[in-house]
Amino acid sequence: MTERTDILIVGGGLVGASLALALDAAGRAATLLEAQPVRVPAIASGAAGDDNDRNLVLARASVNALRALAVWPLLDAAAGTIRRVEVSRAGEFGRVRLAAADAGVDTLGRVVPGRVLGAALEQRLAACRQVRRVDSARLVALSTTEAGWRARIATAAGERDIDARLVVGADGSDSLVRAQVGIAAQEHDYAQGLFVCTVACERDIPDCAFERFSDEGPVALLPLPNGRRGLVLTVAAERHDAVATMDDAAFVALAQQRFGWKLGKLSRPGRRFPHRIRRVLADAITAPRAVLVGNAAQTLHPIGAQGFNLGLRDALTLAELIADVDDPGASTLLGEYAVRRAPDRDGVLAFSHGLSALACLAQPSLAPLRSLAMLALDRVPPLRHAVARRGMGFRGAPPAATLDRGP
Ligand SMILES: Cc1cc2nc3c(=O)[nH]c(=O)nc-3n(C[C@H](O)[C@H](O)[C@H](O)COP(=O)(O)OP(=O)(O)OC[C@H]3O[C@@H](n4cnc5c(N)ncnc54)[C@H](O)[C@@H]3O)c2cc1C
Repeated sequence: MTERTDILIVGGGLVGASLALALDAAGRAATLLEAQPVRVPAIASGAAGDDNDRNLVLARASVNALRALAVWPLLDAAAGTIRRVEVSRAGEFGRVRLAAADAGVDTLGRVVPGRVLGAALEQRLAACRQVRRVDSARLVALSTTEAGWRARIATAAGERDIDARLVVGADGSDSLVRAQVGIAAQEHDYAQGLFVCTVACERDIPDCAFERFSDEGPVALLPLPNGRRGLVLTVAAERHDAVATMDDAAFVALAQQRFGWKLGKLSRPGRRFPHRIRRVLADAITAPRAVLVGNAAQTLHPIGAQGFNLGLRDALTLAELIADVDDPGASTLLGEYAVRRAPDRDGVLAFSHGLSALACLAQPSLAPLRSLAMLALDRVPPLRHAVARRGMGFRGAPPAATLDRGP
């Protein structure tokens, strides 16, 4: 007999897992399908961020939401704190400084090693009562039924079907859900790659995140606990393989040359993780009885550190809309989801894409304009305040779980 579920979430990555937790908290039953086997790594193992393929900047809104989902206490000790952000460009005079105090808050955001966040979500999921996990199970096809979708899934024991009234595509950039429900996607190749690792810095400027742009792309140094910093170094695609094979000394010398000496000498790099950068944008985020969240809906340039933050708000908005309704796949509900996500999605997309274009392009004619824009932003408090609010994840109609609460 075919299994049935109200809501089938395909993909148990950071966003799918967050959605499952939010639905569970709202008392809604759901099935979470994940192609990979479940591993619940010890949270402490990645505390310094040394063995992480990314260190995620979590906007203040995301920290609030993870607190509401009872995930944050598992992360707090492993998280760096951002009270100030400094953005500059090599060879140009302007710089932008944002401070939590300017926005009337104590922190702008936090930095968590990706593996630690994944482990914390897994730990919380293991305690969920409403969510059924189906792991090591890959979606291979979707077909329509009278009530919704029939998902054909492949496991080690063979293939079987699950019927759902709503299918959620949380299955990442190359989403099969997106293709199967008939939503096209547009890809853009930034012709860049990036490397992530941790480094030690000779000088500390506590709780400050730095991003420095150059013709080849940005380099960022993010605060982590234990005196380490998360390094993100972007390189042109044609240099990717050469940089990947550099020894540690040559790699650190390149990072130093690109970042400069603001934090003194960089040293002791941890394990290095390479990534290729592309943008993937779904033409729509809903189809009949189907919805996309996270990277399946939009995969962004990591320059703005917005991908998970935006995906989490996708997930929380959806959970909020579903919480008290009978039919989670009703067309009015999905229409409302699309309307509510539009300003946030469009704003973040324009920000991330525009930032990468403006900051990375080697166009001398843009240099004075860029410097002036940075200078203006640095000197005009209301502008700085507006940018800080958006950077903290408060844009459009944010889901309630992301809002600041009183003490
Ligand atoms: C270097 C780097 C740095 C970044 N830094 C930041 C940052 O600072 N802040 C920020 O907010 N974001 C950042 N991001 C972006 C962020 O990591 C992503 O947006 C986020 O992880 C996307 O999560 P997801 O769950 O949507 O997708 P994914 O992580 O891709 O998860 C998809 C899941 O679906 C599963 N799956 C796929 N297909 C199937 C199938 N057919 N059946 C079953 N399961 C399936 C996969 O196994 C996977 O577990 C960064 C990204 C990179 C690359």
